[in-house]
Amino acid sequence: MRVAFLGLGAIGRPMAARLIWAHSLVVWNRTKVRANEFTGAYKARAVYTPREAASRSEVVITCLPTSAEVEALLDGPDGLLAGLVPGSLMLDCTSGDPATSRRIAARLAEHQVDFADAPVSGGVNGAEAGTLTVMVGGSEAIFQRALPVLQEFGKRIELMGPVGSGHAMKAVNNALLGVNIVALGEGLAALVKAGVPAGKAVEVLNASSGRSFVSEHLVPERVLTGAWPRTFRLALLHKDAGIALDLLEEQGVGGAVMQMATDVLGVAREALGEDADYLEAIRFMEQEAGVEIRA
Ligand code: NDP
Repeated sequence: MRVAFLGLGAIGRPMAARLIWAHSLVVWNRTKVRANEFTGAYKARAVYTPREAASRSEVVITCLPTSAEVEALLDGPDGLLAGLVPGSLMLDCTSGDPATSRRIAARLAEHQVDFADAPVSGGVNGAEAGTLTVMVGGSEAIFQRALPVLQEFGKRIELMGPVGSGHAMKAVNNALLGVNIVALGEGLAALVKAGVPAGKAVEVLNASSGRSFVSEHLVPERVLTGAWPRTFRLALLHKDAGIALDLLEEQGVGGAVMQMATDVLGVAREALGEDADYLEAIRFMEQEAGVEIRA
């Protein structure tokens, strides 16, 4: 298929790179140098505007920070709506918000363009390996149509329900990730201060019932080593937790735990800035507690 990919950020770039094996690819990125760097490395063509990307494609994929940036890309003489071909399909792999996606889907439907939200989980490594989990919100027919593209970077690809359901699922997943990060940061800081070696504390947790993906993978790889690689911005995790809180409120579900974790992530974001990695929330908690959690 002729596919356009818009947004060659930390996760978008490796996702787009996997598409070249089975599809004809055009790419667009706000900062042009990133698109040029991509086409220098992969068989793809860079275009100057979202309109041009859309006009050449049967499937248009977006992967931007939030739904607000995706919606903004629709408008204007160089926007997506000026180029999208009737009968084409737009897939939004942004971790976005359900309400904006429903609005985008309605606007595209007026132009006979299909839409599904298709956020992903599995990180930059999962994107490179083509093993992402993809959470799709849309109709069964659109889901089937999207599969040949999504399966290039996704391993588990699930239809969650109507438009917006993929984003709702992703937001809850990431809010839980945030809760785990914050709670583990608190627990480990206290244990280390109480004299328990950090490496041993993590080992014992991982042989016990308090373990999680964060304790089994993220903390050993990034916190115990003090490596702090930058793969997923803390600002984006904080955004996801906020989307989950909105969902809970809409559904009349109390969100005390998620609210507290979101607040901690927000304070860490404020202190560390927009480029900090999500695991650096624990670095912030270390600073607050006056301790380092290192092997
Ligand atoms: P990055 O911050 O690394 O990249 C963001 C991308 O969006 C860049 O291409 C950037 O362009 C572009 N962009 C930013 N603002 C605008 C704008 N106003 N108009 C047009 N383009 C814009 O983010 P990620 O790639 O990490 O994340 C993208 C989405 O995927 C987010 O929703 C995130 O939550 C989600 N996600 C990320 C994961 C990860 O591990 N990184 C994992 C799973 C989901 P420019 O180059 O010009 O700055």
